[in-house]
Amino acid sequence: MTTESIKTGELLTSDGDASNSSPGVGALTQEEKGRATKQRRWEQRMEKKRMAEEQAHILEEAKRKQDEMFMRKALGEARKAACTGDVPIGCVLVRRGKIIARGYNRRNADKNVLSHAEVSAIRKACKKLGDWRLEDCVLYVTLEPCPMCAGAIVQARIPRVVMGCANPKAGCAGSVLDLLHQPGFNHQTETEMGILGEECSLLMKEFFQDLRRAKDADKG
Ligand SMILES: [Zn+2]
Repeated sequence: MTTESIKTGELLTSDGDASNSSPGVGALTQEEKGRATKQRRWEQRMEKKRMAEEQAHILEEAKRKQDEMFMRKALGEARKAACTGDVPIGCVLVRRGKIIARGYNRRNADKNVLSHAEVSAIRKACKKLGDWRLEDCVLYVTLEPCPMCAGAIVQARIPRVVMGCANPKAGCAGSVLDLLHQPGFNHQTETEMGILGEECSLLMKEFFQDLRRAKDADKG
C-alpha cells in the first residue's frame, strides 16, 4: 500500500488494485475533508467581510443623513442672508451632535468684509466655549470657504468641514487653493464636498438671477 493510497483511504487488494470494498457511500477522503474545511473557512471569511461591509455602509448612511440634516440648517442660515440682500451663504458649527453656533453672510448688511458666515459662527462658538480651539467641532457651510474663512478654520483647528457646493472663483478647500489640506501647516482638515450640493448651488443661482432681474428692471 503506497503512502498516497493510505492518505486517500483506498483499500488495495493483494495484487495492488483498488478493491470494490472502498469506504462506505458518503464517507469523505482526507483530501476531500481538507477541501471542505478550506471551503468552509473561506465562506466564513467572506461572510465576516460581507457583514463588516454592511456595517460600514450602515454607518456611512447614518453619517450622510446627519450631514444632510445639518446642511439643511446651514441652508436656513443662508436664506437669512438673502433676505438682507447678501449672497446666500450659511453656516452651522456642530459639537457632539448639537449646533453650538450659527452664522450667515452679512457683508453687505454690516458693510464689513469680515462678516462672512464661517467667521461669524466661529466667533460665536469661541465665545460660547471660552476657547479659541474648536477641536471637537464640525463646520457645515453651504459654499466652499474663501481664503479668510479657510484660514480661520485652520487657526481654530476645526477637524472636519462639510460643504454644499464648490466656489470656483474663491474656494480654498481645493478649487483655487487648498488651505485646508496644506501639509506644511500644523493642522489639516477632513473635508466633504457636495452635501445637498444642488440645493446650495440653486440658492446661489436664484439669488444672482433675481439680482440681475432687479438691475434690468432698474435700467428699463
Ligand atoms: Zn469667507
